[in-house]
Amino acid sequence: MGVSMFTEQPMSILLVEDDEVDQMIVKRSFRDNKVLNPLFCANNGEEALTMLKGDGVEKPDPFPKIILCDLNMPKLGGLELIKEIRSDKDLKNMTIFILTTSNSEKEIAEASLQNVAGYIVKPVTFDSFRDAIKTLNTFWTLCEFPDVNH
Ligand SMILES: [Mg+2]
Repeated sequence: MGVSMFTEQPMSILLVEDDEVDQMIVKRSFRDNKVLNPLFCANNGEEALTMLKGDGVEKPDPFPKIILCDLNMPKLGGLELIKEIRSDKDLKNMTIFILTTSNSEKEIAEASLQNVAGYIVKPVTFDSFRDAIKTLNTFWTLCEFPDVNH
């Protein structure tokens, strides 16, 4: 479990994904890799923003430092969400990984301008996706994520 140097709380992750099957695949990949970090889920960008800003709802606790973000979603898409996050003084430093299908090259190019940490291609096979989550888990276990605002 990735634990920040600056708090004793486990680092949590926010998954923003409108596809129920893809949400299940991420959850299953966490389980299979014994990733113990708390995983919060939002069904679209609008829901994610409401959660992150605590806009009439309780903020997730521990507050997520990493977002796994789908691009194509109703209401507020991934790119729009990322732009909102980058322009919010309390949220702008969040680490964001994009979950994408291989056919969204234009969105990937645009997202690159928003300082995203990386891309995970959605599963061609479950095994390859599980391996991607395993790699990510190694990344956030090794990295330190200072508490900037939370
Ligand atoms: Mg989608």
